[in-house]
Amino acid sequence: MANLLTEAIYRLFSKPNTKMYPVKPADIAKGFRGKVVWKKDTCIFCMMCVTNCPTNALTMNKEKKTWAIDIGKCIFCGRCHDVCPTKPKSIDNGSEFELASTDKKKFKHEEKK
Ligand code: SF4
Ligand code: SF4
Repeated sequence: MANLLTEAIYRLFSKPNTKMYPVKPADIAKGFRGKVVWKKDTCIFCMMCVTNCPTNALTMNKEKKTWAIDIGKCIFCGRCHDVCPTKPKSIDNGSEFELASTDKKKFKHEEKK
């Protein structure tokens, strides 16, 4: 009983172990793989990311200079980043992770260079 009381008093004045997310922003760990981000300025349209994506989540049109992702297909594996030959990499997994939606149209995202 004494131990329990000591523990209770200690916990009353110690820093909580719980995180305040979503009231406060989440702590994103280094190397976290969130929503894929394309960096159009350095992209050379080599198509390596598109051809190596295991779920065909990426599409690209060299002529129109467009890049698109279907987040509903992406499994956040980071393969597109690994195979990108540019330095710095032109595609990366960002920190955004709140991607759930009941509207499938919101999963498709296209950008133009
Ligand atoms: S993270 Fe993986 S699944 Fe998602 S776009 Fe890149 S290669 Fe494809
Ligand atoms: S692999 Fe990199 S440089 Fe090649 S098309 Fe994809 S983003 Fe662009």
